[in-house]
Amino acid sequence: MDFRSTKIVRFCSLVVFAAVIVKAAPPPEAGNFVLVVHGGAGNYAGAPAEQIEARRAVITKAVQAGYGILARGGASIDAVEAALRVMEDSGLFDAGRGAYYTKEGVPELDAAIMDGRTLGAGSVASVKHIANPIHLARLVMEKTPHVLLVSAGAEEFAKSQGIELVSPYYFYNEREWDQYKRAAEAKKTSAVFRESEHGTVGAVALDQAGNLAAGTSTGGTVLKMPGRVGDSPIIGAGTYANNQSCAVSGTGVGEFFMRNIVAADICERVRYLHVPLDQAANEVVMKELVEQHGEGGVIALDRQGNVATTYNTTGMMTGTVRADGKIRLQGWSKTAEPIIVPAVK
Ligand code: ASP
Repeated sequence: MDFRSTKIVRFCSLVVFAAVIVKAAPPPEAGNFVLVVHGGAGNYAGAPAEQIEARRAVITKAVQAGYGILARGGASIDAVEAALRVMEDSGLFDAGRGAYYTKEGVPELDAAIMDGRTLGAGSVASVKHIANPIHLARLVMEKTPHVLLVSAGAEEFAKSQGIELVSPYYFYNEREWDQYKRAAEAKKTSAVFRESEHGTVGAVALDQAGNLAAGTSTGGTVLKMPGRVGDSPIIGAGTYANNQSCAVSGTGVGEFFMRNIVAADICERVRYLHVPLDQAANEVVMKELVEQHGEGGVIALDRQGNVATTYNTTGMMTGTVRADGKIRLQGWSKTAEPIIVPAVK
């Protein structure tokens, strides 16, 4: 390379370097914190008002649990786990106690959690005897050299950690059993059964130290084949967190989220293309997924506290709280006004 070409290369590197400096996101603001949870994307138009109300109450409780941790200066990963445990225990969502049934009539649960500070991640899939899969995912992250444990192996590991295995009857709930029977009947008669809601639960959080975390827990899709694993426990598909970009939890038809590595794609657009978070989420959920008829939505959060709640269904129930302690509940319809409730009772 002659002297002139060396100079040109140096000049070009400088321009690229300068562009990166100019575009680099500002550091997170000290003392800022945010938590967002979702209760699944779907169409709530036909859902009874009491059901919506009951779910809003659980989302509120979940956000309150996470808020307490973040307000005390706790870690985003703890807030995510605490919020999701409340939702798993409620029986009102497609996760934990309320999980949908497989074709064989037995729930199989998936969950993942990821720490944006360390890129530590843990997930479990196809577990049948775990009341809180999000907790087991956390233990996979912290106590094993692995990222994903499935089925019997995951449950053996749970036992070794002192987690009590529950009977499949623990997950019995009338609402999901009825849905299972309707779906199974429709399948027999080739009638169309449309899953109107994806009641997966997810959370993303930013703590006062500026660290992001994400988690997702689900029973998957109605009448799924036994052994089917969706996007939720797949790092980069349904769950992702990285302090360099953002934290995402998805909900919808998992196969589309896996093929499009939705959560990672949103974060990588933020990281490499330097586009705003809501633009990245829009391009992936409202354009790419829509073009493929991939139904669903995401909650996404960056280190500056920007939030995107983006869905191509008619609804996705979410609860968001910031340091001002006001929980904003919304998403049961695109036009409904948000409801604001306090984070401290
Ligand atoms: N994404 C989940 C799955 O495919 C389902 C959901 O979001 O409800 O397993």
